[in-house]
Amino acid sequence: MGRLVILGGGESGVGTAILGQQKGYNVFVSDKGEIKDKYKKVLEHFEIEWESGTHTESKILNADVVMKSPGIPDKVAIVKALVDKGIPVISEIEFASKYTDATIIGITGSNGKTTTTMLIHHLLKDGELHVGMAGNIGDSYAKMVAENDFDHYVLEISSFQLDGIVGFKPNIAIITNITPDHLDRYDYKFENYIASKFKIAMNQDKNDYLIYDADDEVIQDWLKKHPVQSKLVPFSLKRKLEEGAWLEDKTIKIKLEHKTLEMRDDILAMEGQHNVKNTMAASMAAMLVKVRKETIRQSIQSFQGVPHRLEKVLKINHVEYINDSKATNVNATFYALDGIKKPIVWIAGGVDKGNNYSELMPLVREKVKAIICLGTDNTKLKDVFGNVIDLMVETYSMEEAVKVAYKLAERGDAVLLSPACASFDLFKNYEDRGDQFKNAIKNL
Ligand code: ADP
Repeated sequence: MGRLVILGGGESGVGTAILGQQKGYNVFVSDKGEIKDKYKKVLEHFEIEWESGTHTESKILNADVVMKSPGIPDKVAIVKALVDKGIPVISEIEFASKYTDATIIGITGSNGKTTTTMLIHHLLKDGELHVGMAGNIGDSYAKMVAENDFDHYVLEISSFQLDGIVGFKPNIAIITNITPDHLDRYDYKFENYIASKFKIAMNQDKNDYLIYDADDEVIQDWLKKHPVQSKLVPFSLKRKLEEGAWLEDKTIKIKLEHKTLEMRDDILAMEGQHNVKNTMAASMAAMLVKVRKETIRQSIQSFQGVPHRLEKVLKINHVEYINDSKATNVNATFYALDGIKKPIVWIAGGVDKGNNYSELMPLVREKVKAIICLGTDNTKLKDVFGNVIDLMVETYSMEEAVKVAYKLAERGDAVLLSPACASFDLFKNYEDRGDQFKNAIKNL
């Protein structure tokens, strides 16, 4: 079978190791950092050889194929050495997809991947389909393929996963939207990042579907210049479409493959216009795998959303507290500010990934009454919004930020944590940031 070397001993690495061994590869896992104990135990259980804290070249450069975990950039020395030697470096989805003939629904985009993935999983389960959910979310896809026999997979796929594909071909691909993100991994060229997202449709043929946001100019422009083979299935909040999903009279209307579906938009448990789009994309995917209309309608109503995404926490003294910690870029925050119909005390800041805040300016002028900066370096926020917002306060811990918000907010306001930035300066990750927010509110 050959030698499979895996770079990175995390969820996707260990999952790929299990599948590779099952398929007869001689497997070696190498991680330059520390492999977590729980993964070491799994590797030992399966008697898979591994190393931690180093990359031993002699054990890596003799690979027939290498699976690189998505977190490892292409520019690290060992990856360059592999590429120079002509050894294929692929991602987990590429490797694992060869070993299943299940229907694959792959979701990518800058924002909305997790929400859309979980919603589709929820719809398909309610439709009694035998479905697994994997990718960037939760369990390793490769491990699932090794240990289960699902008929359908719903996969959340990052651009880093897509960078490592050769033949991967989802039956249904979804691109939720494309806005600048992770540009540090793409030589600071937006074009490269867009190209990476569109790899999801690269191997699709005329029997496959590409569901996408037709209001997104970046997607539309790209499709004009780089046509795909797939059947195009657009959705729009702005205009009526011949085929696809659109809004009319506060109703989501879908026309797809000679079938139709209508749902009032107020049946959605999730708020915000972006979630109408996510619902359109997810419902069309469910229709394509033949979930019944009535099941879709009911299932949509029972989906409560995902924690840390516009999550309502508490109401105190008629002030609503909303946790949108997962908003790590400007576009996600745009939808939060857009969706909330009250004066907002906005908690923002963290590690800026080269943000351009101009798109937020009209919403900030209209709705934001105070900005609470929460980051180790708030210079940019102060420079951009200092002339527009009278009340700007710098804080250095979540507890402090929430206390200040509590003082500033008045009856009828909303306190929104939607940082538009990554969380790594003051927090472990976005979950930690959101959890600290929720705890601080409960301790008020
Ligand atoms: P991802 O997995 O792509 O990061 P999530 O579903 O976790 O997406 O949502 C990330 C952030 O983006 C949250 O703040 C959420 O409210 C917002 N969001 C969700 N769907 C969309 C969308 N379709 N367009 C813009 N923002 C969205």
